[in-house]
Amino acid sequence: MQWVKVLGGVVGAAALLGLGIIVGHFAIPKGADSPAPSASASQDLDLKILETVMEQLDANRIRENLRELSKEPHLATSPRDEALVQLLLQRWQDPESGLDSARTTEYEVLLSFPSGEQPNRVDVVNSTGAVLFSCRQSEENVTGEQGGPNVVPPYAAYAPPGTPQGPLVYANQGSEQDFKELQKEAVKLQDSIVLTRYGGVGRGAKAVNAAKYGVAGVLVYTDPKDINDGKSLPNETFPHSWCLPPSGVERGSYFEYFGDPLTPYLPATPSSFRLNSDNASGFPPIPIQPIGFEDARVLLCNLGGKLAPADWQGGLGCDYNLGPGFRLNGIFPEDSQVNVSVHNRLELRNSSNVLGIIRGAVEPDRYVLYGNHRDSWVHGAVDPSTGTAVLLELSRVLGTLLKKGTWRPRRSIVFASWGAEEFGLIGSTEFTEEFFSKLQERAVAYINVDISVFANATLRVQGTPPVQSVVFSAAKQISAPGSSGLSIYGNWIRYYNRSSSVYGLVPSVGTLGAGSDYAPFIHFLGISSMDIAYTYDRSKTSARIYPTYHTAFDTFDYVDKFLDPGFSSHQAVARTAGSVLLRLSDSLFLPLNVSDYSETLRSFLQAAENLRDLLEQHNISFGPLVTAVEKFEGAATSFNQRIATLREGTPDPLQVRMINDQLMLLERTFLNSQAFPEERYYNHVLWAPRTGSVATFPGLSNAYSQAENTGHEPAAWAEVQRQLSIVVAALEGAAATLRPVADL
Ligand SMILES: [Zn+2]
Repeated sequence: MQWVKVLGGVVGAAALLGLGIIVGHFAIPKGADSPAPSASASQDLDLKILETVMEQLDANRIRENLRELSKEPHLATSPRDEALVQLLLQRWQDPESGLDSARTTEYEVLLSFPSGEQPNRVDVVNSTGAVLFSCRQSEENVTGEQGGPNVVPPYAAYAPPGTPQGPLVYANQGSEQDFKELQKEAVKLQDSIVLTRYGGVGRGAKAVNAAKYGVAGVLVYTDPKDINDGKSLPNETFPHSWCLPPSGVERGSYFEYFGDPLTPYLPATPSSFRLNSDNASGFPPIPIQPIGFEDARVLLCNLGGKLAPADWQGGLGCDYNLGPGFRLNGIFPEDSQVNVSVHNRLELRNSSNVLGIIRGAVEPDRYVLYGNHRDSWVHGAVDPSTGTAVLLELSRVLGTLLKKGTWRPRRSIVFASWGAEEFGLIGSTEFTEEFFSKLQERAVAYINVDISVFANATLRVQGTPPVQSVVFSAAKQISAPGSSGLSIYGNWIRYYNRSSSVYGLVPSVGTLGAGSDYAPFIHFLGISSMDIAYTYDRSKTSARIYPTYHTAFDTFDYVDKFLDPGFSSHQAVARTAGSVLLRLSDSLFLPLNVSDYSETLRSFLQAAENLRDLLEQHNISFGPLVTAVEKFEGAATSFNQRIATLREGTPDPLQVRMINDQLMLLERTFLNSQAFPEERYYNHVLWAPRTGSVATFPGLSNAYSQAENTGHEPAAWAEVQRQLSIVVAALEGAAATLRPVADL
C-alpha cells in the first residue's frame, strides 16, 4: 500500500512537472522552470561559498534587526504586525541583497482577543458581593514598555467568556493526576474556582481536566520556583536580572489543536468552508485567566484546608494549602469567594505569511524551506524576534551573493515568515494545507528557527533522525562563542549527550513535538524537519523556559543585557542554521542519513519487547514487527552503500535524482492518515504524541495503555493489533522505498 502511494507520488510529480512547463510557457519568464543555462548537473556544495557565508553573518546586524523587530508590540494581525510584513517584503525585494522574489499570502483566520471595553477581572468578594481584592489587569510598567494601547492585557486566548464565582481550590498543575489527588483528599471541586500553576500539562488541558470535575473557572500563574529559581522580589527580577517580575503574566493560546480552528484540513481562504464557531472543537470548556505571582501569592497564601503535598509547594514564601476557601485569620473572611470575569471575543482576521524565494540552479523544483513566525504576544524580542533577526541576516548574506552573481543554490530555497503562530501555528498550518500536494512532492526539508537564543550556553536541536548528520557536520566546523576554543559540536556534547550504539558519545538531538511551526511539516506532511536554537546550562538554572516568556518584559534590552550580550549566540545559531541550509540546498546528494532511523526503530522495538508476552497471550504476533525493523535496517545499510559507490564514480544526473528522491520521500512513508483519527494533523506513525508509558511506537504504546486501563477488553486489544499492523506496514513501505527502485 505504501509502495503504491509512493509510486503514485512520483507519477503525479512527473505529470505536474509537465504541466508546470506548459503553463510556464505562458506565465513565467523563460527559463524559470528549467535549470539555469550555466548550471552544471553535477553542481555540489562549494566550501568556499560556505566559508564566505559563515564569515559574513554579522552579530551586530542581527542585533540591529532585533532592535527594529521588537521596537513595538506586534500581536498577530495588528498594524505593527502588518508593518513588519512590509519590512520583510522590502528586505527580500532589495535590489542588492534581496531574493529572486517575495510575496505575501493571506488567510482569514479565527483569533481570540480580550474585550477592549470590558477588561477581564479576578476579584475576591465577600458574602455580600463586595470586592475585597482585585488582581492587576495589566503588568507593572517597569521599563516604560509595559503600558500603552498596543500592549494586550494578559488573557487566555480562546478561553470562553463567563463570570464564574466560587470558593478557591489549589490544583497544582491541573493535570488529571492532580485532580484525582484532590478528589482523594475529598476537596469539593464542584462549582469551585481552581488556581493552577503553569507547567506539567498544556495550557488548555488545565481547563479540560478541571471541567470534568465540575470546576467553574480556572486561574493559572507562574510560580517563582518554576521560572526564577525561587527569586521573587522586585529587586531580584527584571530589569535587575533576567528573572520574571512579580506582575509578569504568561499569555498564550489555550486552543487544543493547531491551525485555524474553523477550517481544519482546508486553507482558510475567504471563500473556504468554515465551521460555525459554536461547533468548532478544541477550545477550553470553562473560563480561564492567567495572573502574576504577586497576585497568586495573595490568593494562595491565604487558602485554608489541608496542607498540599510536598511536590505541590512552590516559591511564594508560604505553605500552600488545598482549600476550598480561605483560612481562618487570613486577610479574607473564610466564606469569601473568587470571581473570575472573562470577556474574550472570537474574531475573523486576515493574517499574512511572507514567502521569499531563491530559485535553484539545477533542481528548481526541489525546495528547502526555512521559516519562523513573525507575530508576538507583546514586543516579542526573544519570541519570535531572535529567530526573525537571524532569518533576516541569513537572507541578506545569501541575497547579496545571489545578486552579485557569485552563487545560486542547486535547489530552491523558500524563506517564510509565518503569521499567527502564537494562536496555534496558524500561518504555517494554512500554508501546508494550501500547498499540500506540491510540498509532499517537492519539499526536501524544513528548518525552523523560532526563538534562536533561550540562553547562551549551548546549541540545542530537535529533529527527526535523518537530519542529525547534517547538523553534526555543520556544528563541527563552526567555533562556539566564548574562549573555550571548542567547536559548536564540541561545546554541545558537554551539555547534552547520549550514548549511541552506532557512533558512541554524541550530542543528543531532541524529538519534535508541536511547540512551533515545524509541527504541520513533520506531522501532517512528513517532511524531515528540525528546530535550532541556543539554550541553557541546566546546572545553572531550572527555569521552565526563559523567565519573561510571553510577557510584556520580553524586550530588546532583556536580550541585549541578559540573554546574549554581544549577540555571539545569535551569530552561532545563524551560522549553524545557515550551514545546514546551504548543505541541504547545495549538496549533490542530499545530506540526510536515513540509516540513522535504524537506531530509533531499534530502541522502539526494544521497548516493545516488554509487551511481547502479553501481545502473544492475546494472539497478536510480534514477529512481523521484528522482521519489519530488520528489513528497514538492511535496506538502509545497502542504500547508503549504493550512495557511497555512486560517489566514487561520476554518477549520471538521473541516478543522483533517483537517490535524492528516495532520501526526500523516506519521511513520507511513515505517514498514515488513518492511524490516529482522533488526533488532528498527526499522520506520522513514529512521532505522534505518546501518552502510554512504554517508550515505543506511539500508536502501539497508547493502544496498549488503553487496553490495560479498560480491563483488557477485546476491542482495546483489536486496536493494539491494528496499531501494530500500521507500524509494520509503514516500516515495510519505508524499506521498499530505500530498496533499488526495480526491486519490489
Ligand atoms: Zn515563537
